[in-house]
This record gives sequence, structure tokens and C-alpha cells, in this order.
Amino acid sequence: MRRLAQTDGLTDVQLEMLATVRDFVDKEILPVATALEHADAYPSQIVEGMREMGLFGLMIPEEYGGLGESLLTYALVVEELSRGWMSVSGIINTHFIVAWMIRQHGTPRQKARYLPRMAEGSIRGAFSMSEPDCGSDVSAIKTRAVADGDSYVIDGQKMWLTNGATANLVATLVRTDPEAGHRGMTTFLVDKEPGFGEVEPGLTVPGKIDKMGYKGVDTTELIFTGHRVGAAQILGGEPGRGFYQMMDGVEVGRVNVAARGCGVALRAFELAVSYAQRRETFGKRIADHQAVQFRLAEMAAKVEAAHQMTVMAARRKDTGERNDLEAGMAKYLAGEYCKEVVEDAFRIHGGYGYSKQYEIERLYREAPMLLIGEGTADIQKMIIGRRLLEEYADRSA
Ligand SMILES: Cc1cc2nc3c(=O)[nH]c(=O)nc-3n(C[C@H](O)[C@H](O)[C@H](O)COP(=O)(O)OP(=O)(O)OC[C@H]3O[C@@H](n4cnc5c(N)ncnc54)[C@H](O)[C@@H]3O)c2cc1C
Repeated sequence: MRRLAQTDGLTDVQLEMLATVRDFVDKEILPVATALEHADAYPSQIVEGMREMGLFGLMIPEEYGGLGESLLTYALVVEELSRGWMSVSGIINTHFIVAWMIRQHGTPRQKARYLPRMAEGSIRGAFSMSEPDCGSDVSAIKTRAVADGDSYVIDGQKMWLTNGATANLVATLVRTDPEAGHRGMTTFLVDKEPGFGEVEPGLTVPGKIDKMGYKGVDTTELIFTGHRVGAAQILGGEPGRGFYQMMDGVEVGRVNVAARGCGVALRAFELAVSYAQRRETFGKRIADHQAVQFRLAEMAAKVEAAHQMTVMAARRKDTGERNDLEAGMAKYLAGEYCKEVVEDAFRIHGGYGYSKQYEIERLYREAPMLLIGEGTADIQKMIIGRRLLEEYADRSA
């Protein structure tokens, strides 16, 4: 039993599930993660294992064939998976967000059609807000859908789709009314074949974006040129609600990006504390130099703080309360701490940290993604700041 990143008050079911995932990570992910990452190879066998464990349906209600677990369970599973390899958690994260959006906002027909197959992993979800010219400023998207009879014709270019090629369902935010600002945006459930090239008439996945880290999982563009989608594919059935649906999805997604940060930081700490007891300089273990010990202490405090903040944000959502403040704080803190802990672990490895033979090299390239994905650190601070001014509004004037 490890000492850091423990969670009080878990049920036996949660403890058992986490023990199973931890065992899977130790036996099936950690031994192969770095080689797969260096080869930028899709981890098909690991994905199959996750499917068998039911992880694709972790939060999908039992009536639709899922495990009906809480956001807390999901976040803790993501933390464990990311301790093994962050890309693996990315494979289920967009799927999870899309399933969440369908569960919260879908019509009964959409829930019945998608959720059971998403739970078994035969339908795999990606979500798409970002475009080449905008990511933080979602309200600036240009991709348009124009009504034509009982369908819509979509034109435009989307960017940065995690699982863009492997997914066969993309929740896509488009503009349906150019005059109506946020209320003129609509989420379409776009079905497609997996793969690259023109996967459906007027729908093209050009190729994989070559990334600094977060390899293995595919990240793509998606180009719409007169792609026709039935009006029945509008999430929730009515146009104009897409922005709010996406923000709801991103809010739960933020807890999971925070959980990823916790997992990567925990692994970096484990690598550093182990290395520090094996490496000797000036006649003693480097762990016995006070500077290194202090570094380990700071790292551990950050790992623990990020974990507890993430648990708090997930629990708040599970009680049905608004958690945008806590999710924003958790994502911001866990992302920043992860980057710092990984850099400290890198320093403790000395020159070997720069060698591709050591796992920390991979973590060093993975951590920056957490400063950007699901809203940059600056955007989190905007959300946190605005919410604080609401909560602490000065009414003395
Ligand atoms: C590996 C990867 C996977 C991704 N996966 C997905 C996905 O699956 N689906 C999806 O839709 N998107 C995805 N994204 C896109 C991601 O959400 C965006 O990159 C992110 O929101 C930032 O947008 P941007 O890149 O356009 O940066 P910009 O919005 O151009 O920001 C550039 C810089 O300006 C700062 N900035 C912007 N506006 C403000 C402001 N108002 N105040 C202060 N600072 C500001 C930002 O913090 C940043 O530092 C992914 C990105 C990456 C790198």
C-alpha cells in the first residue's frame, strides 16, 4: 500500500475496482508504455484490457449497460491509468465526456441508441470544439451547419480532436445561427467510420498531428465539406444548446485532466524517490543530501495537495452541486504541480533524466499537455476569478 494520494471514505466496490486497475497498470501498462510511446504506437492490447474491465462504461448508468459509477471513481481510475501512461487515460477521456453529454442532455432515443454500445466500447467517442483559429475562445468558432429539409449541411474545419481517427462518434460543436452568439451553437452527434481520409461523404480526417508527447493516442483535424447530418443527430433534439452542453462536458473533463496530473506527478515522485536511494555522490545516497530530500518533500506535498483537491472537486459534482470553481482550481493546481514535480524528478535523475532509457524523459514531454487541454491555466484562472467575485461580491457600495 502506498502512502501518498490515498482517499478516505471509499466503498468496498471502489477499493476493489481501484486495486484491479492498479494491478493492470503495474502488469500491463508500465512495462510497455515507454516503448509504445517512443514508437507512437496505438496501445490496442491495453485498450482491449480496459474494455474487458468495463472502463468504457464506468460512469454510464447500469440501465444502459454501464457500471453506473461516480465521477470520483472515474477520477481515481484516471489517476491510476495516468500513473501508468497518460495517453491511455486520454483514450477513455473524450469517450467519457461524450457519454456524459449524451446521458445529461440526449433525447431518450439518443441515449438508447448510443449509451449501451458506448458502455461496451463498440462505439467510441471524441469531442470537437476547437478550430485552427480558436481554442480558448469557443464562441469564435466558424464551422457552420445550415438546415436543408430534415437535415443539416456542415462546412468548416475542426482541430485537435483527441481520438479523432479511432472514434466512430464525434460530438461536434458548430454554429447554426450566426446572429445568436452562444445561443446560436449546436452540438451534433456525428457518426463516422474510424480511420483516415474521407471517412464519410464530405467528412475527412487528414492525418495524425505529430505531437511532442501524449503519443500513441491519435490527435487529428476534422474537415467538413458539405457533410450532411440528420436533424435527429442534434444533441437533445433542439438547436442552440450546444455551447452549454459542451461546457458541461468540459467541466467533468477538467476533473479528469486534474486526475491525470495527479497520476503523472505520482509516478514522477515514485521514480525520483527510488532513484535517489540508488544513486550515490560524495560518498552517500543522493537522498541523504538535504537539498534532494527537501526536493522530495516538496514533490510529495504537491502530489498530496493535488490529489485531495481533485477528490474534493469530483465529490462535489457527485453530490449534484455546481463544481466549476473546484474543478477549475483542481485542474489548475494539478496541472501546475504536475509540471513542477516532473521537473524536480528530472533534476534528481541528473544526466540520465535526459536519456530516453529513463521513464522520466517521457513524463517530461507529457506534463505540458495538462497546462493546455480542457482549457489553459489562464482560462482556469479566469473561471476561478469570476466565480470568486460572484461568491465574495462586495455589497457595501
Ligand atoms: C494534445 C491536445 C489534445 C487536444 N484535444 C482536444 C479535443 O479532444 N477536443 C477539442 O475540442 N480540443 C482539444 N484540444 C484543444 C485545446 O482545448 C486548446 O488547444 C486549448 O483550449 C487552447 O486553445 P488554443 O490552442 O487555441 O490557444 P489560444 O486560445 O490561442 O491561447 C493561446 C494563449 O493565450 C492565452 N489566452 C487566450 N485567451 C486568453 C484570455 N482571455 N486571457 C488570458 N490569456 C488568454 C492562453 O492561455 C494561451 O496561453 C487539444 C489540444 C492539445 C494540445
